[in-house]
Amino acid sequence: MDFQKLADVLEELEKTASGNAMREILAEFFKKVPAEDIAVVSYLTLGRIASDYDDVVLGLADKSVLKSIAVAGGIEMSKVDKLMQEKGDAGLVAEKALENKPRTLVPLGKLTLQELFDKLHKIASISGTGAQEQKSNILVSMLQKVSPKGAKYVIRILLGTLRIGAGDMTVLDALAIAYTGDKKNKEILEAAYNICPDVGIIAETLARKGLKGIEKIDIHVGRPIKMMLCQRVEEIEEIPEKIPGEFAVEAKYDGERMQAHKDHNGKITLFSRRLENITAQFPDLVKEIERQVAGKEFVIEGEIIAVDEKGHHLPFQTLMQRRRKYDIEKYMKDIPVLVKVFDVLYWNEKSQIHGPYKIRTQLLTKIVTKSKHVMLADKIVTDDISEMDEFFHDMLKEKYEGVIVKSLTGEYQAGTRGWNWIKWKKDYVKDMSDTLDLVIVGAYHGKGKRSGVYGALLCAAYNEKEDVFETVCKLGTGLTDEVLAELPKKLAKYRLNHTPARLKVKKEMEPEVWFEPKIVVEVMGAELTKSPFHTCGSGLALRFPRFLQLRENKKAEQATTSTEIEQMAKK
Ligand code: ATP
Repeated sequence: MDFQKLADVLEELEKTASGNAMREILAEFFKKVPAEDIAVVSYLTLGRIASDYDDVVLGLADKSVLKSIAVAGGIEMSKVDKLMQEKGDAGLVAEKALENKPRTLVPLGKLTLQELFDKLHKIASISGTGAQEQKSNILVSMLQKVSPKGAKYVIRILLGTLRIGAGDMTVLDALAIAYTGDKKNKEILEAAYNICPDVGIIAETLARKGLKGIEKIDIHVGRPIKMMLCQRVEEIEEIPEKIPGEFAVEAKYDGERMQAHKDHNGKITLFSRRLENITAQFPDLVKEIERQVAGKEFVIEGEIIAVDEKGHHLPFQTLMQRRRKYDIEKYMKDIPVLVKVFDVLYWNEKSQIHGPYKIRTQLLTKIVTKSKHVMLADKIVTDDISEMDEFFHDMLKEKYEGVIVKSLTGEYQAGTRGWNWIKWKKDYVKDMSDTLDLVIVGAYHGKGKRSGVYGALLCAAYNEKEDVFETVCKLGTGLTDEVLAELPKKLAKYRLNHTPARLKVKKEMEPEVWFEPKIVVEVMGAELTKSPFHTCGSGLALRFPRFLQLRENKKAEQATTSTEIEQMAKK
C-alpha cells in the first residue's frame, strides 16, 4: 500500500479531537488495508515502528534530520534552520521545504508502507562511526519519494513526535469495528493484548485468522505479559466479602515489579511494570535467577528490593539508582538487590495463568531454591481477618508498605486490576492518634503456634465514677513471642477462678482465665465503635486493637478511663 494513503488519514486524524470520530476514521481506513500491511499501519498510527516493549531507537540527531530535509528539498541549510526557528516542528519544515522544491527534483516513484517500515528499521539498526551520515542518506531517499504532506509525517514518526492522540486502545477499538463489525469484540482483542501487548501482532492475527486466531494467542516467552494489579477496599471487613474462606496474605514490598522470562535457549530477560526491558540494569539478578530457578523455560514475577550488606531492605529511592545505563558494575556492588518471587505465569511449555494461585505458588516452592538474593515472598494463609491484621502490622514493622490479600483459587488476571488481589496499605488504616492504656482482666488460651501461651487478652478501661472496670477489646495482635512468653509468668499471681470483683463484663466475652485488674498494657486501635459485647461507657469497642507495650509504671486505676474513651469516640 502507498504510504500516501496513511498520510492522508493521519492528516484527518490530526484535525479530529473526538475519540469516537477518531475510531470511526481509523476503522474505515483499516477496512481498506491489506492484511500484510495492517501491522505496519497499526504501529505507524501510534507513531512507532515496533511494539512499545521492543524499545527500537531510531537514533537520528535533530541536526541530521534537518540536513536530510535540506538535501531532499534542494535548499540551503541556512534556510532550513530559519524555517525551523519559525515553525518549531521539523515535520512542518519538511512539508514547507518539499512544497517549494525546484521542479527539477521530481519524485522518485512512490514510497510503499513496507519500504518506509523497512527503511525506518534500517535506520534504527545502524550504529557506530558514520552512523548519522548513513541514517541521513536513508532518510533522504525516503523524502525523495513522498509528497510534502507525507514528508511531514515521515519526519514526525522518525522523531517520535506524531502525537495524533491515538493510543493502543483506540487502535484495538478500530480493529474490532473494521474486522468484526462490532465494537464489543474489543474485549476479546483486549484480553489477547493483555497476554501479548503488541498491537501489530493483534492486528495481523485478526486480519488473517479472525477472532478464532485472537483467542488462541498465548504467552510467548520473551514477550512481556501485562501485569496483574490489585484492587483496594475502604474497610478491612470488605476483604472476606470479596475473597471468602481462606486467603493468602503476602507482604507488599516497596520495590520494583519484575517479570523474568527464561527462553528455551536459556536467555533471561527482565521486564519492568511498564514492560520496559530492564535486563541490562540487573546482570547480578539475571545470574541469580539462572541459578536459583529451575526450568527450561519460565516466566516468573517478583519484587526487586535494594538491600545493604546485612540484607536489610533499603528504600525504593535507593533502588532507583540502579536504573542506569552506565556504571552498572559499580552500582551493582554499591547497591545489591534481591527479588521476592510471588508468581509463576509460565513453566516448561505451559501457561500457568489460568490455574489457581494455590497451584501456581505450589509450583513456585518447587522451582525456586532460596538464596541470599532470590526467595519467595513472605506470606501466611488464613481465613481470619484479625490474623491478617496481625501479619499486616508485622509487615509494617519490617517497613514494608502493607500486604496483598490473594485469592487461593484466583487466576492471574493479566493487565487487570482484579479482585483476586486486594491491597491493604498503611495509609488506609485510620489509626487513632491516641493510644489507650488498658488493664488485663482475662485471657484466652492460644491455639496453633500460640499453644501453651495466651492467644488473646481481655482488656478493660477504668470507670472512675463507679470505680469499676469495663471491657473494651480482645487483644491478640502485636504480641511478640517475647511478650507472649513473659505474660503467663507476670499474670500468674493475679489469676482468679472467678470474675474479678469490680468488672463489668458481658457473657459473650467471658475469657478462659480471669485476672485481678493489675497489669496495664498500651494499645493502639483503628477506631472506637458501638458494640453489644463490651461494657465500656455507652458500649464501646476498640476495633483492631494492637499491643504496643506493657505499662508497668501504671496502676490499674491509672488506666484510660471510660469517660476519656467516650470523649475520644465522640471526636
Ligand atoms: P501502589 O502505589 O499501591 O503500589 P500500584 O497501582 O502501583 O499501587 P498495585 O496494583 O496497587 O500497584 O499494587 C501492586 C504492586 O505492588 C505491584 O506492581 C508490585 O510492584 C508491588 N508488590 C509488592 N509486593 C507484592 C506482592 N507480594 N505481590 C504482588 N505485587 C507486589
